Amino acid sequence: MTRCIHCTRCIRFATEVAGVQEIGAINRGEHMEITSYLEKTLTSELSGNIIDLCPVGALTSKPYAFNARSWELEKTESIDVMDALGANIRVDSRGLEVMRILPKLNESINEEWISDKARFACDGLKVQRLDTPYIRKNAKLLKSSWDQAIEYIIEQINAVKGDEIAAISGSTTSVESMFLLKKMLFNLGSDKVDTNQFGYKLDTSSRSNYLFNTGIANAANADVCLLVGANLRKAAPVLNARIGQKVRSGDMHVARVGEVSDQTYVIEDLGDNVSLLEEVLSGKGELAKRLKEAKRPMLIIGDAALSRSDGQAILALTHAIVEKYNIISDDWNGFNILHNHASMVGGLDVGFVYGKSGNGSAEILKQSKDKKVKVLYLLGADDFDMSLIDQDCFVIYQGHHGDKGAERADVILPEAAYTEQDAIFVNMEGRPQYARAAISPLGLAKESWDIITRLANKLDLGMPFKNLADIRNMLAKENAVFANIGTVIPTNFIGFKSSVKLLKRPLEDVLTNYYMTDPISRSSVTMAKCVQAQNVKEELV
Ligand code: SF4
Repeated sequence: MTRCIHCTRCIRFATEVAGVQEIGAINRGEHMEITSYLEKTLTSELSGNIIDLCPVGALTSKPYAFNARSWELEKTESIDVMDALGANIRVDSRGLEVMRILPKLNESINEEWISDKARFACDGLKVQRLDTPYIRKNAKLLKSSWDQAIEYIIEQINAVKGDEIAAISGSTTSVESMFLLKKMLFNLGSDKVDTNQFGYKLDTSSRSNYLFNTGIANAANADVCLLVGANLRKAAPVLNARIGQKVRSGDMHVARVGEVSDQTYVIEDLGDNVSLLEEVLSGKGELAKRLKEAKRPMLIIGDAALSRSDGQAILALTHAIVEKYNIISDDWNGFNILHNHASMVGGLDVGFVYGKSGNGSAEILKQSKDKKVKVLYLLGADDFDMSLIDQDCFVIYQGHHGDKGAERADVILPEAAYTEQDAIFVNMEGRPQYARAAISPLGLAKESWDIITRLANKLDLGMPFKNLADIRNMLAKENAVFANIGTVIPTNFIGFKSSVKLLKRPLEDVLTNYYMTDPISRSSVTMAKCVQAQNVKEELV
C-alpha cells in the first residue's frame, strides 16, 4: 500500500464492473488507505482483474508474486477452458511451468477481463498429474510403457463386439480428440459416444437450438432478460459483468425463474417454480407486459433447468415463450443456452452425442450395467458417479489429472492439458477458437489427437492422419463451422415441442461450487483456499 497513488481504479472496477461494493478507501488525505471492508475477502469471481488495472503494482497476485520476472517468461496467446465463455488469455510460462495466466483483449468476448478461476486455477496444472501410462493389475495401477498400454487396450477391444464399446467425453476435451474418437468408434461399429455427461436436455436439431445465440458482446444490448434456471454469476462471471453494467445503468431489466442466489445487480425474482413460465406464456403478470413491449428481449436457460428430468418440457416451454414474444426476429436472436463447460458446444458440433433425449451418457452407463457396453473410453470424463459403470466393464481413461475417472480406470493414457497442446474449443456462442501449447506435455504424456491416432492406427481402422493439420482439414471439410475459426456462423432456430410432463418442483442451482468444476480447478491449491474463504464468509452470514 506504500505504492498506492489513490487512483481508485480498483474500487471503481469492483463497484462498477464486478458489482461488489467490498473494497473502498478509508481515512482522508495522506492517511487514505484502500482496503476491503473489515478486512474480509472480496467475494467477486472477477477479483483478480484489479491486479492488472492497478497502475503501480500496489495490488499483486499472491500466487505469482516474487516467483518470476516478466522478462523471463515465454508468452503464448490461448483460450481459457475453465468455463464456456472462451475468454482469450495469455499463458506466461518459464521452462516447463505455467507461471501465470493473464487476460488478452477481445472486445467480442471477454473485453480485458477474465474470471478468477481462469487466472488462478493454473497451479492445479502442477499437481495430481498423470505423466505416464498405467495398467491395472490385481486391483493395483502399475506404471507401463505406451506400447504395453496400447497393446492391452487392443486386446480388450478385439475381445468384444464393435457396439459393445462406448465413449464419454469430459468438460475440457478438445474438438479434435472428440472428432477422432467418434470416427474410431464408428469404424469399430459403435455410435455410442456422448459429451453430455451432465445430462442436459438439449435439442440438437439445429445449431441455433443449443447456442448462446445473442452473442456475448451483443447480450448487453438486450432491454429485457428472463433467466430460467441460469446462474450467470457462477456459470459465466465475465458475461454477468457485462449484463450487470447495463442493469446498473438502467438499460436492462432482468427477471429470474429459479433459485434466489447472491447477485451483483438487481434481479426481479419471480419465484423458483417452473409453472411460473406457464404464467408468462399465458400473458399474465408484469414480466409478460415487459416482454411484449421490449425491443430486444432475451431469454437465457441454464443448467438448473436443463439438467432436470423434465428439462425437455422446460425447454419446450421456453421455445413457446420465444415464439409468443418475438424473442427471435430478423435482426435479433434472443434465445440463449447458458453452457458451463468448455467442450460442450464443440462436442455437439462434431456430433459426439448419443440419442436425442440428452440422456446419452446415462444410457451408456445403463448399458454397461446391462452388459451391453463392455469397454468404456473416458476421454477426460470425470464428472459423473463412477459407481454407475459396471464393475466388469473395462475402462480406458485418457486424461491429464488423477481425478475420479483415473481412479476407476483399468488403463490410463496420460494426455497433455490445455496449456500443453494445440486444440480447438468452441465457446457458448458457437465461436471456434485455437488454444495453443505454451509448454510441452508433462513426462510421457502426449497430445490427445496423437494418442487416439496411434490407437486407431494399431487397430488398422483406416484413419490416416499424420498431424493435427490433417485432422483440422478433415474437420473443416465435414463441418463448415471449423472452416471459419474465430467467427460465429448463424443457423436457423427450429421450434421444439415435447410430450414430457412438467414437474411442479422448484428449480435448484446445480453449480454450487464455482471454484471447483473440473480436474484442473479441483487440483488447485488457490481454488481450495477460495472455497475455504467462501465457506468462512457463508458461516459468518
Ligand atoms: Fe491504489 Fe492501485 Fe487501487 Fe489505484 S488501483 S487506488 S494505485 S491500489
